[in-house]
Amino acid sequence: MSDALRDEIDAWLAAHWDPDLTVAEWWDRLADGHWAVPTWPEDAFGRGLSRGDAGTVGDAITAAGALGPPGGLGIMLAGPTIVAHGSDEQKARYLRPIVNGQEAWCQLFSEPGAGSDLAGLQCKAVRDGDEWVVNGQKVWTSGGQIADRGMLMARSDVDLPKHKGISWFAIDMHQPGMDVRPLREMTGRALFNEVFLSDCRVADDDLVGGLNNGWAVGNTTLMVERSSLGAGGGHAATSLATAGSVAGDLDKRAGDFVRGASSGTAGVIGGGAGKLVMKLARDRAPLRDAVLRQKIVRLHEMQEIARFANLRAKAARAAGVKLTGAEPNIAKLSMSRITRLSAELGLALQGPAGQLWRDPHADPIAAELALFAPAVSIYGGTDEVQKNIIGERVLGLPSEPRTDKDVPFRELRVGTQRD
Ligand SMILES: Cc1cc2nc3c(=O)[nH]c(=O)nc-3n(C[C@H](O)[C@H](O)[C@H](O)COP(=O)(O)OP(=O)(O)OC[C@H]3O[C@@H](n4cnc5c(N)ncnc54)[C@H](O)[C@@H]3O)c2cc1C
Repeated sequence: MSDALRDEIDAWLAAHWDPDLTVAEWWDRLADGHWAVPTWPEDAFGRGLSRGDAGTVGDAITAAGALGPPGGLGIMLAGPTIVAHGSDEQKARYLRPIVNGQEAWCQLFSEPGAGSDLAGLQCKAVRDGDEWVVNGQKVWTSGGQIADRGMLMARSDVDLPKHKGISWFAIDMHQPGMDVRPLREMTGRALFNEVFLSDCRVADDDLVGGLNNGWAVGNTTLMVERSSLGAGGGHAATSLATAGSVAGDLDKRAGDFVRGASSGTAGVIGGGAGKLVMKLARDRAPLRDAVLRQKIVRLHEMQEIARFANLRAKAARAAGVKLTGAEPNIAKLSMSRITRLSAELGLALQGPAGQLWRDPHADPIAAELALFAPAVSIYGGTDEVQKNIIGERVLGLPSEPRTDKDVPFRELRVGTQRD
């Protein structure tokens, strides 16, 4: 399969890639050729390929010196969620602008009092004719400042128990009452934001997966997120141009964004972290510190175990064998441990120079990895939350006590007004 696939994508790239196209024109070609998201179904701009075969496509794009498909949360999270739960009309409306990068998305899930306990979210949606009026606050919203649409989880019925009265909406980020305020992280950048929604409006047609079914829909988003983060957060061919109408890259020349493998934060998490550590180790060869050498081997072992776990899951799926369902949680947990050890090793290998800060887009170094690494144990659900899920679903340990599971949300005892 891979050889024929490689021949097909190589021939297509030779006929279609042109660095003088605009980013928008090139992404349109990738979308129409069904090469932007080859793992998606054929009726959703994909080819139904496995992740491994999609890697072959990504390798070919990189080797051809072409710009990769749009990255961001539209392709990573919103698209797969809509493919799984959207109506035909919603798929027709949302998927194309996601796949060709015309619209960027953000994930409006976490709130100041609802991160690990996401089902405790309080942002409220109240029906008004064929629209919903939304009020509340979200936080840690990655890419909110450049998003055209948001995946919004909001409470649509306070009389139902906390997991049952939530709906998942696709909300327009460009409207009065949508106040997006960037939050600066210790990397110096502002990856995420706090978002205040005051009387924002979203059409009933933009409710995805059915009224009060948002917990199930949101869990699809989260499982896709964990499995994607566990796999390293995307392929190196993922584009350096930014999707969406706000970033301003769509009208620029596609060839100007081609710089080989991704750099910056994207270049130092997951597989990128391991590569950085190995490069630093080679730069310092011969390495005489026995403890450092042992830790490097430990990192290699952890990466190999993660790779084998992926292969085992893939083989089980191909053979129709039922999996535990917690593979994305295990992959995500393993990626966060790999990233933390890589950060420790990166600093140790670089020595005093690891304290220095340079532009990571020009030259990813250990400081970037060390400053960003803690985030990997938090986003997409913390390590502790992954362990809870693995403990309950895989090991059959008793569930955490949940006294609020069957109580109407309005009656829950918390410090904030619920209705
Ligand atoms: C870089 C980054 C990007 C993010 N991007 C987004 C985004 O785009 N959209 C979005 O909606 N959210 C985003 N998040 C938010 C992220 O999902 C939450 O931070 C995460 O779910 C944890 O929630 P919290 O911060 O409220 O911590 P809390 O839930 O308050 O947790 C605090 C601590 O308590 C522990 N804890 C909590 N509950 C349990 C339990 N039951 N058992 C054991 N330990 C527990 C946690 O593990 C943690 O150590 C992002 C976070 C980061 C760091």
